Amino acid sequence: MPTFPVRLLFASAALFSAATAQAAPDPALGKDVLLQSIAFKTVEGEGQVPKLAAYYAAVLKDAGFADADIVITPMGETATLAATIKGSDAALKPLLLIGHMDVVAADRKDWTRDPFVPVEENGYIFGRGAEDNKYDVAMMVTTLAYLKRTGFAPRRTVTLLLSGDEETQMKTTRALAARYKDAELLLNGDGGGGVLGEDGKPVLYLLQAGEKTYADFEIAITDPGGHSSAPTASNPVYRLAKVLDRLAAYQFPPMANELTRASMRAGARRIGGEAGAAMARYAENPQDATAAAYLSSRSEYVGQVRTTCVATMLSGGHALNALPQRATASVNCRIFPGVAIDAVKAELTKVIADDSATVTTLNDPTGSDASPLRADVTAAVTKAVQARYPGLEITPNMSAGATDSLYFRALGVPSYGVSGLFMKSSDGFAHGLNERVPVAGIAGALAQWETMVKTLAR
Ligand SMILES: [Zn+2]
Repeated sequence: MPTFPVRLLFASAALFSAATAQAAPDPALGKDVLLQSIAFKTVEGEGQVPKLAAYYAAVLKDAGFADADIVITPMGETATLAATIKGSDAALKPLLLIGHMDVVAADRKDWTRDPFVPVEENGYIFGRGAEDNKYDVAMMVTTLAYLKRTGFAPRRTVTLLLSGDEETQMKTTRALAARYKDAELLLNGDGGGGVLGEDGKPVLYLLQAGEKTYADFEIAITDPGGHSSAPTASNPVYRLAKVLDRLAAYQFPPMANELTRASMRAGARRIGGEAGAAMARYAENPQDATAAAYLSSRSEYVGQVRTTCVATMLSGGHALNALPQRATASVNCRIFPGVAIDAVKAELTKVIADDSATVTTLNDPTGSDASPLRADVTAAVTKAVQARYPGLEITPNMSAGATDSLYFRALGVPSYGVSGLFMKSSDGFAHGLNERVPVAGIAGALAQWETMVKTLAR
């Protein structure tokens, strides 16, 4: 159950229904919606997502959304929400916004504060999901409520989608993508965003337009085994060790796309030094083997240069005094957008060079291409971000992990991570302990969402 009594949950929303023409989305409402959101323990298995969806629906209806414009679809213990402001031009495909209502589990005893009791302290809001992803969800809900309340009449339909199991199964994401794929583009609050320096000054804004594909494989070697007093040459543990040696020595070929080249050009200017020089050379010429080798030697850059595969788990044998019958290694790959998962599997099979080994793809991964850096999107995001921080550089970004955008990109919807959150690296605790977000940026985040939506839906 949410920690707050339900009566209180709707009080603040009701408070604002009487407000007349506001000039901007109300930061007090944005903060309140965020605080209320954290109180719902939307961890997998808790059954709280439908209740959070009902709360958002109440906030939106209070701002004037008709019942028919809000669809909550239960899916097992979770749910999706879709809220639509209809456009006047039926020929224009919808603009989608997306975020996720679920959060990663959090154990009370590991946290300084109860992770599901929102707390504001020293300029921060603490709680599980404060950053990932309830901050931007609250900003999008508040912005849409404001747009509705002020009679926003776009030419293009705007639909806010909220998924309910992004952190786990992503079944709700797949359902939303299948249902809403006939869209112009998708803005995702869970991706991209601003970086603040430790002095609190803005450093850059990341516009996320691609994600590496996450895929796990298992390499298995089997043998009839036998008594450990009579060793054989075909011991699967020894054979697996040789296979892993070859895997460890292998690097996938360097790659580049529009996104990584743009982000390297920006990195070259910002970072300077040897790394900056290598980035500049690599951005100009991805065939530059010296630059590729230097960047690949740095763990913070290697993922931007190539597909990576790494052994993460090992198991083998069944008794201290028996020859092993089986040895396996799990291999986690982060695949460059546009590279087929089966092509990586084939390459792994070739690299390990052991016909007796089997390579199996685990958990049915989905891949997606990077989205094009569209001029209209870049212009809208630049306008919105630079209104908050004049002159701040907008840097295209390819991220290492998957968000809801994955399933939309896979169905051909250009998707962009454009979070309104600006944070110091030292404040980033998403998925971790004592997750928090700064309160000071809320007004700016709301204004950013308002500008992005208005510019792209006009
Ligand atoms: Zn997230």
